[in-house]
Amino acid sequence: MTRLFAGTQFDRPPECDRCGRLEEECECPPPEPEPPTYLAPHKQTARLAVEKRKRGKMVTVIRGLAAEDNDLSAMLTKLKTSCGAGGTLQEDSIEIQGRHLDRLRVELKAMGYHVKG
Ligand SMILES: [Zn+2]
Repeated sequence: MTRLFAGTQFDRPPECDRCGRLEEECECPPPEPEPPTYLAPHKQTARLAVEKRKRGKMVTVIRGLAAEDNDLSAMLTKLKTSCGAGGTLQEDSIEIQGRHLDRLRVELKAMGYHVKG
């Protein structure tokens, strides 16, 4: 009887890429995580907008900064402190509660970003 996965990677016990030993015998240290490579702020443009959310709450939204190019969670923490307001990280934007256009413009420019809005 021919095994379905004969000759494929599914047929072999897992081996370490680095030492070639079976994974259960491998003593290699765990791989270092790659340091994130962020894009220089001066190559990016943050777009600011004040928008209304449910129950009439106003938020200031920062768009145009991709999560893979920026440490958005660190930025959110800094901006919340600077504005003295709450905020959340969205999929493709940062939202700070309240109207903070002027403050955020100053902060983002100080970080080196171009700012529109
Ligand atoms: Zn190994």
